[in-house]
Amino acid sequence: LMQLYQPLNLLGFVYSSLRQSLVDLEQMFRLLGEAEEVEDPAIPILLPARLEDAPPAEVRFDGVKFGYQSNREILHGVSFSVQPGGRTAIVGPTGAGKSTISRLLFRFYDVNDGRVLLDGRDVRDYSQESLRAAIGVVPQDTVLFNDTIRYNIAYGRIGATQAEVEHAAQLAQVHDFVMRLPEGYDTRVGERGLKLSGGEKQRVAIARTILKNPRVLILDEATSALDTHTEQEIQSALRTVATDRTTLVIAHRLSTVVDADEILVLVDGLVAERGTHRDLLATGGVYARMWAAQSEEEAAQGHVEAAEGPR
Ligand code: ATP
Repeated sequence: LMQLYQPLNLLGFVYSSLRQSLVDLEQMFRLLGEAEEVEDPAIPILLPARLEDAPPAEVRFDGVKFGYQSNREILHGVSFSVQPGGRTAIVGPTGAGKSTISRLLFRFYDVNDGRVLLDGRDVRDYSQESLRAAIGVVPQDTVLFNDTIRYNIAYGRIGATQAEVEHAAQLAQVHDFVMRLPEGYDTRVGERGLKLSGGEKQRVAIARTILKNPRVLILDEATSALDTHTEQEIQSALRTVATDRTTLVIAHRLSTVVDADEILVLVDGLVAERGTHRDLLATGGVYARMWAAQSEEEAAQGHVEAAEGPR
């Protein structure tokens, strides 16, 4: 029986490793939705990808209509632009279509009507590879590869040196954490390695994106509440990566959008309000009500934290 057991055991191991790789891939692409086939044009244009090669890009949505299924339109004509190096935030109720906008910018799907433009050109004109190299995404929850921390950061730029990896980790405020681990950058993480907290994982993702140095950044903010201290550390790491980069923030909480150049309030696939934080508060509409509701909620939470004492 033992003779039979060993090969079976090996088979089980191979199967579970294979399955894990599939899970990694699947999770990586989950943020991006189930990618449909989009095709490169006959003569694709190469978009300069990195901030060291070209200035920050300009992003524009021009009357964009889109639905995942032909019988259900999700975006009903959305227009906005993000100036080179600027910051636009999209807020709105769940299911409004916020993440869909980021998927269209990444060209995981093609629009049904209107245009998505990068540097004044339709994203359908570019090679998909160069388009995706030019856009960095810091997702809500990062899935790490079953590999070392070094590998997970260096993935942002194949061939990065240890010095470059450490510099990115410092900017992302994760270097000190890594140095405290017995095996440092050689520590294995992921499902089969050290389990990192949500905040640590996100900072690894930020370090990866700093290395990638893309001309456009999409921040898909975490819905799950992190504790206040972690939240502040993440926010400051996110600010570092967003500096001088054209940034689109998909915001689930309003505290992080206050300083955006423009805030779009998306309701049922349409931009219901737009303006700066001050403009929108003065308007006294949807945004002002969302802000009041959230401030109340935070105040209530603050009372709870205060009652529990310092952490
Ligand atoms: P949340 O704040 O909850 O993340 P959101 O504003 O980002 O929401 P989207 O994820 O853009 O919303 O989804 C908008 C609508 O599109 C939802 O009704 C959702 O059910 C639908 N949708 C999203 N992804 C797909 C998909 N891959 N296939 C079909 N429908 C989808």
